[in-house]
Amino acid sequence: MTDMMERTDEVGAGTVILEHWVNGAPWAGASDRTGQVFNPALGTVQKHVRFATHEDVGEAVDAASTAWEQWRDASIAKRQAVLFSFRELLNARKQELAEILTAEHGKVLSDALGEIARGMEVVEFACGLGHLTKGAYSENVSTGIDVYTLRQPLGVVGIISPFNFPAMVPLWFFSIALAAGNAVVLKPSEKDPTAANWLAALLTEAGLPDGVFNVVHGDKEAVDALLEHPDVRAISFVGSTPIAKYVYETATAQGKRVQALGGAKNHMLVLPDADLDLAADAAVNAGFGSAGERCMAISVVLAVDSVADEFVAKVADRMAGLKVGDGTRGCDMGPLITGQHRDKVTSYIDVAGDDGAAVVVDGRGVEVDGDPGGFWLGPTLIDKVPTSSTVYTDEIFGPVLSVVRVEGYEEGLGIINASRYGNGTAIFTNDGGAARRFQREATVGMIGINVPIPVPVAYHSFGGWKASLFGDAKAYGPHGFEFFTAEKAITSRWLDPSHGGINLGFPQHD
Ligand code: NAD
Repeated sequence: MTDMMERTDEVGAGTVILEHWVNGAPWAGASDRTGQVFNPALGTVQKHVRFATHEDVGEAVDAASTAWEQWRDASIAKRQAVLFSFRELLNARKQELAEILTAEHGKVLSDALGEIARGMEVVEFACGLGHLTKGAYSENVSTGIDVYTLRQPLGVVGIISPFNFPAMVPLWFFSIALAAGNAVVLKPSEKDPTAANWLAALLTEAGLPDGVFNVVHGDKEAVDALLEHPDVRAISFVGSTPIAKYVYETATAQGKRVQALGGAKNHMLVLPDADLDLAADAAVNAGFGSAGERCMAISVVLAVDSVADEFVAKVADRMAGLKVGDGTRGCDMGPLITGQHRDKVTSYIDVAGDDGAAVVVDGRGVEVDGDPGGFWLGPTLIDKVPTSSTVYTDEIFGPVLSVVRVEGYEEGLGIINASRYGNGTAIFTNDGGAARRFQREATVGMIGINVPIPVPVAYHSFGGWKASLFGDAKAYGPHGFEFFTAEKAITSRWLDPSHGGINLGFPQHD
């Protein structure tokens, strides 16, 4: 499929340029601006990606608008058939996609396959569109009068996605947007953009008409063009909190429907009665999987004093067995996305001691099974982190797990609820009463009880609270179909006109 997406171009002889995808084919647009795409395990540039201008985005939106005129009328059966076919192709070729994810993001192959599985789950959910786009019908609400509702597609919708899930996050949104009868323009992260074109080509192969799904690559210019375009009816965004807020404010000011999912700082509260081995496994898996570059990663453990020493020792013990290296070599953890990001994450370890914290396991200078030029940083454990330290307050988004020691449940809950973020959280305990209180009292959108990464299945919806989600619609699940459709209520009467008559009063029922 690679030849369908790329071509060799002028940015130095032999440079591969990833093009946009418009009208069912690669498309260069008018821009000569490009960005670099690294292989993070090697630290080298492997290709460039085209950066769209305002006008380029306008052309993609025009293509989507034209295609939508027919796609909106495609029957439920037809849309279902395309989605079923897409699901089958994706399942058959997931290894190919996983290799693209590992080559550009750096996550290990098994994790890349996990990302695809969780995205494919939403495609499977979206195949139930016949049920999910159904309206409601009330017969004889007044004598001879019926009321019913329809859910109709919005038109062209824009999706803007982050680097950390280059396949799953687009799948969360476009599967449902397309199922509901919309046309899509996706602007993926410029850091690992190839998965988007691969998915676009697969949709074409699955029978999606040209122009219904388009990809524009780029940076702020492309994003702003989508936010401002009058024919883009809705925006689904996932990324960091400052950009999520900007996207929400800019696009709602243009009258668009917006869901903007932001950053996170997810806490795991470990009570003294918890199974400490289970909790230590969970902290390591959720803290260092995908090198901590997950919005649902656990980045802070709130450990109750009486068990904190034992818990920290168990975590450190498990960390000693983690193998860091090239994601194609069966390692546990790969590199970070860029050298710049790796250096930023490292800077938090540099200041931890000055802030009064103790670096228990130091990932700087880690030995790796990979090229020395890769963007490496080993798993790091920092204990006794004060909540005033930037190690605690900032979203680090790397393999750095902090431990904050607390006296008990109340102090732990207070810290969680004082956080500006509210994406996910977890409690580890064997006390059902404590768990029940926690699920009621935590001001967080997704809660795990003895489960560290509580990403809901596709038929529930995904989203946080506070600075982790701007807007009131979560991703996928029932919220997804509501977000991508507009409801219309119809009140109808089929009666002999002689039953009419003049009445200027507000309609009442009889
Ligand atoms: P990011 O905010 O830098 O980028 C996200 C998207 O916005 C990209 O497509 C990027 O090109 C675009 N963008 C970047 N700067 C922009 C600007 N100034 N104006 C307009 N658009 C801009 O995020 P990232 O680094 O790609 O992803 C990591 C972040 O995403 C983390 O904060 C993580 O927590 C968050 N995230 C959240 C969720 C969630 O469900 N809440 C899921 C995944 C990732």
